[in-house]
Amino acid sequence: MLQRPSSDLLQVVPLTAIVGELTLCGNAFKRQLALGHSAYNLINPELGFIGFVGLHYALPDGQSGRFFWMFMQPDPEDVSHPQHWLHTASQQEKLDHVLKTTAKLPPKFREVFELTPVHGVREESHVWRDLELESLPAGRVVLLGDAAHAMTPSRGEGAFHAFIDAMKLTTTLGELKVNAKVNDIVAVEAAVAGYNEEMLKRGLIAVRASRSSYQEAKKRAETRQHFTTGMRALAPSPVALELKA
Ligand SMILES: Cc1cc2nc3c(=O)[nH]c(=O)nc-3n(C[C@H](O)[C@H](O)[C@H](O)COP(=O)(O)OP(=O)(O)OC[C@H]3O[C@@H](n4cnc5c(N)ncnc54)[C@H](O)[C@@H]3O)c2cc1C
Repeated sequence: MLQRPSSDLLQVVPLTAIVGELTLCGNAFKRQLALGHSAYNLINPELGFIGFVGLHYALPDGQSGRFFWMFMQPDPEDVSHPQHWLHTASQQEKLDHVLKTTAKLPPKFREVFELTPVHGVREESHVWRDLELESLPAGRVVLLGDAAHAMTPSRGEGAFHAFIDAMKLTTTLGELKVNAKVNDIVAVEAAVAGYNEEMLKRGLIAVRASRSSYQEAKKRAETRQHFTTGMRALAPSPVALELKA
């Protein structure tokens, strides 16, 4: 559609990322669920990293669950270069690096890293890439979601914008149908051009905001503001591990 390969269009995000997976049982499982029932962010500009911890799935025994984490740090070097340490480090070296960096966290936040076995650290490296498109041709082929504005997940907005795209595109196509313009290519192109313009502008803002979320977190930590605006603390409720028939 753009006559350019994705290797040309996707840009490397200057963040190293290390990924780990582990199974937690009993009280360790409960402690993670108390931090976030499905996932939580650890944003610690003082220690220089962003962490994302998520529950893949609970196991059928109801007492344990499979978790994953992603540990990210800003890195001005080309993290996609095969000689970058991220690609040459062993699983043990990557885990040691994570444990050293998180050593000053309170125990409840370090636990997920400390309980990860060496073989739980992903061997393959992970390089984030995002996409900034300025324009798209308007016609009968339309982009939405990550295909048009792939972004890092730091702000949790990728799927949110994909849903908005879908709703806007549905409205655009619905209007063409109501006005019996579906077979009028000039009307289709004009409608899609309008959709593209709004979608790309909104997507671009989100891609850039996600890319700079670490710097933003750092600024907000200095002014003691929460990283995500509009968040409300939930009343604490005890986690009970119980199998229901
Ligand atoms: C760790 C992580 C956490 C995230 N957290 C959040 C969050 O909290 N909130 C949020 O809003 N977003 C989040 N996102 C982003 C979100 O997952 C994506 O933005 C969203 O899934 C994009 O949807 P999509 O339909 O555009 O693309 P995708 O979900 O990637 O769907 C594309 C589909 O096309 C299929 N496909 C690819 N090639 C072909 C082919 N040739 N033929 C057929 N099928 C093909 C793929 O298998 C895939 O199923 C997160 C992403 C990650 C990685």
